[in-house]
Amino acid sequence: MSGVSVHTPGSLAELLNLLANLPNVSIVAGGSDLVPRMTRNKNNTGMAFPGFGREGLPEKNIVYIGSAGLNDIRESDGNIIIGAAVTITELLESALVRAKSPLLVEALSEMAGLTIRNTATLGGNISNASPAGDSLPALYVLGASVVTASVNGSRNHRIDDYISGPGKTARNADEVLKEIIVPIQKQKGAFIKMGRRKTETLSIINAAVLIDVQDDVITNNELGSVRIAIGAAGPTVIRCLAAEDFLCGKEPTEENFEIAGTYAAEAVSPIDDVRSTAWYRKRMASVITKRALAKALQSAE
Ligand SMILES: Cc1cc2nc3c(=O)[nH]c(=O)nc-3n(C[C@H](O)[C@H](O)[C@H](O)COP(=O)(O)OP(=O)(O)OC[C@H]3O[C@@H](n4cnc5c(N)ncnc54)[C@H](O)[C@@H]3O)c2cc1C
Repeated sequence: MSGVSVHTPGSLAELLNLLANLPNVSIVAGGSDLVPRMTRNKNNTGMAFPGFGREGLPEKNIVYIGSAGLNDIRESDGNIIIGAAVTITELLESALVRAKSPLLVEALSEMAGLTIRNTATLGGNISNASPAGDSLPALYVLGASVVTASVNGSRNHRIDDYISGPGKTARNADEVLKEIIVPIQKQKGAFIKMGRRKTETLSIINAAVLIDVQDDVITNNELGSVRIAIGAAGPTVIRCLAAEDFLCGKEPTEENFEIAGTYAAEAVSPIDDVRSTAWYRKRMASVITKRALAKALQSAE
């Protein structure tokens, strides 16, 4: 790593100045994606998705964001605002997040193992933009957005606009992902992950759903409509809009969840990779959609 400088800005202003003035910067938060990626590229082994994992050793500057004041979790105007350097463990231990975003907690509790969760951040999971990122389906159905900042000001992006492909986001080189805005959960929710092991493994496929039922009918009201998102089954997380449309106004029966699963399988466009085949992922898209809808119905408000 000779010729590489590590910077540890102590404030957001200092961080943004570094991003504005330094060439060839790699931002690091928990390092749990970045550091293994450097090693993999050094050994010239590939990643599952084309164009992903090609960052390699930073040429000049690593900027660590953990001391720049991006460590808050707070509630504001019906949202939870999460600083980009907040770790997964801090989120899982937050009384606010546990009370107001149980779906996000469920998804994060399936991520990696304790040691990784102690350093990995939600901002890093989003910025990494892996189609298999376990926080992402929950953030999509919750309608989350992110704020990027540079010396020229801040920009807001819906999560599904922000992530444009494997490893690709709308962030400019002089910007940092500053915070994540997660609307407080109103519907019942569930997350399901299929991996090759129980922990410390990336998803073969994952799904998050939100659903509200009134008088035995799946509603589309002020609580929001039914929402279904599937990860690791396309270049980005996929919202299953046809399945959602089908379910609105229907009874929450096993048969209707089965049909919704069929729509979900039609919506995804998975590939073969080291973790699974496209064929299996398509089949499982249907299965986990059905299971997640049933699980959400049984969950506490
Ligand atoms: C053993 C192991 C198990 C894992 N298991 C899982 C799993 O089950 N599920 C899962 O989803 N992931 C898993 N991961 C991947 C990883 O832990 C997560 O994606 C994690 O959230 C990344 O966060 P980080 O803070 O470590 O990111 P970093 O490695 O620090 O950064 C990741 C990328 O995002 C960029 N970045 C980070 N923060 C910002 C920011 N604020 N602004 C702009 N760019 C930024 C970095 O430059 C880098 O390109 C695992 C990793 C390991 C090593």
